Amino acid sequence: MLPLVPGRTCGGCVECCRAIPLSLPELSKPTGTLCAYCVDGAGCSVHEIRPQACRVWFCLWRVVELPDDWRPDLSGVIVRPDGIEDGRITLHVERVTDFLARADLFATVGQWIAEDIEVAFSLPGPAGHLPVRAVATDWLRPAIETGDAAAFLERLMALLDSLSRHPFEPDGIETRYAVGGSAPV
Ligand code: SF4
Ligand code: SF4
Repeated sequence: MLPLVPGRTCGGCVECCRAIPLSLPELSKPTGTLCAYCVDGAGCSVHEIRPQACRVWFCLWRVVELPDDWRPDLSGVIVRPDGIEDGRITLHVERVTDFLARADLFATVGQWIAEDIEVAFSLPGPAGHLPVRAVATDWLRPAIETGDAAAFLERLMALLDSLSRHPFEPDGIETRYAVGGSAPV
């Protein structure tokens, strides 16, 4: 597991308990559905006995020094850790908000690309469907290299618009809640 930012907690965020699909013997839930063990805005009601997969998965906001208001429930974007050790970062855009136009997003994505990190964006589909994802490094690089934040935003929105028109594949996951041998109350 990646080391976490000291003192940082999820607070009221439960975005990963909604966005991430799980297919485990004791807990199986489709993509984009809030886990029934989750109390919205409060967190996991089976925290002490939650599955191992839940114990080790943290978004990058919990792992690297990103600003406080990049917390996924506030920003609308989950910065996914998958692939970080191989130099890949995916920004999963749960909601399109003004956050995408922020100077610090432009600067941070620019820094990652300058460090040769592969940057991708993904969009959720309907509940029960897998997200669509596209690597954006080369598409965004011209705007990064010229320091053109407006062009960056224009390219990013065009990318997200293109992704939104891709077919979303069903994830095929059936719901099953049996953590600790009991269904959520
Ligand atoms: S998305 Fe990140 S901040 Fe939100 S609950 Fe999951 S790990 Fe915590
Ligand atoms: S078991 Fe707990 S940590 Fe795991 S997805 Fe459900 S609410 Fe989140």
